[in-house]
Amino acid sequence: MTITASVDLTIRDITAGSAEGETCTPELAAAPWTFDTQPPGYGPGASLGDVLPTGSPRQGALPAFYRTASPVELDRRIRDAKRVLGDRLVILGHFYQRDEVVQYADYVGDSFQLANAAKARTDADAIVFCGVHFMAETADLLSAPDQAVILPNLAAGCSMADMADIDQVEECWEQLMELYGSEPDADGRVPVIPVTYMNSSAALKGFCGRNGGIVCTSSNARTVLEWAFERGQRVLFFPDQHLGRNTAKAMGVPIDAMPLWNPHRALGGNDESGLEDARVILWHGFCSVHRRFTVDQIDRARAAHRGVRVIVHPECPMPVVDAADESGSTDYITKAIAAAPAGSTFAIGTEINLVQRLAAEYPQHTIFCLDDVICPCSTMYRIHPGYLAWVLDELVAGRIVNRITVGDDVSVPARIALERMLAARPPVPAA
Ligand code: SF4
Repeated sequence: MTITASVDLTIRDITAGSAEGETCTPELAAAPWTFDTQPPGYGPGASLGDVLPTGSPRQGALPAFYRTASPVELDRRIRDAKRVLGDRLVILGHFYQRDEVVQYADYVGDSFQLANAAKARTDADAIVFCGVHFMAETADLLSAPDQAVILPNLAAGCSMADMADIDQVEECWEQLMELYGSEPDADGRVPVIPVTYMNSSAALKGFCGRNGGIVCTSSNARTVLEWAFERGQRVLFFPDQHLGRNTAKAMGVPIDAMPLWNPHRALGGNDESGLEDARVILWHGFCSVHRRFTVDQIDRARAAHRGVRVIVHPECPMPVVDAADESGSTDYITKAIAAAPAGSTFAIGTEINLVQRLAAEYPQHTIFCLDDVICPCSTMYRIHPGYLAWVLDELVAGRIVNRITVGDDVSVPARIALERMLAARPPVPAA
């Protein structure tokens, strides 16, 4: 892959004053080992003020060599290690990963595509996942037990996934069971079906597996909600309120039948009557990157580019999705651009690394990000070539570092929830 656009280099140029523009946070330009250790030491997209979850993994200090090595030296070590390890190693790069890392990936895709790619590579002993923590967990769930899944920097978490922890979800479930009971209605539908977005911890996937629930991705959220409504009177959807709201709204669920659940308040901040009529209870979570997009940005794009096609990710807020021409997953966005006639203009509402890569790959189109402030997913950005070189050198030396494993108590029910998702099919239209 030829890399002609790099968020990493653009950010460095902006903060060094040699390029115009701004970044969502100047700290992104600092070396990741500095960035990682700045208080609070962990933070999503645009919000470095988020609190570090107590149970989240901590990354120890990178050995000095990798902190001081030049990009050329790191590149040489990574390529040497790949050559030595051969087919015993597979490197996965998420669409939102920086180009400086993606260039070494054997597969590039969204989290579920990558987990499946890992599953297909049964010859690989080590799967190095250049994404975030929940993605590595999913790869561990789907790969063989003797394959080691490695996350090069343990501080690469996901702010959205961290907004719903298992204790909060268990507590919410208890309150809902108390309110609704557990008896099915006359049609055999249980009171609530839990649905978790793929962007969640394995513990939440396990929770869904144990409680008759299911996992969804941004590509199949509608099919999964249809599956859930066949079996339940209502859905508890976590952690992303926007994906839940946008999908349910497109299915005709009224907005006032979608109360928000704030885990820090009794009954999620709702009264009993509001919950009685609920069809989808939305967890108070969001993606810090996608919530930056606004209707104003869309208006400006339309004013500046006649005929522009605006496509946004369904993790964006509802007014943004409503104002766009289309909304869809990263897979949808890449396919829409690939299928468009030459000379098309796209304004895209998703993470900047993917948008810049698409712009470089399709020079026959004009492709730009709706948000002109450079804001990558800053937790994924923590996977720097220095971390990648370190974990690969350790593998060459016969040592596995930063392995991500999901215990059987969680992995068994989590796989059940994933299998339900894989088996879910859109309802057959009435003849
Ligand atoms: S883009 Fe948003 S949802 Fe995706 S990994 Fe980053 S913080 Fe999480």
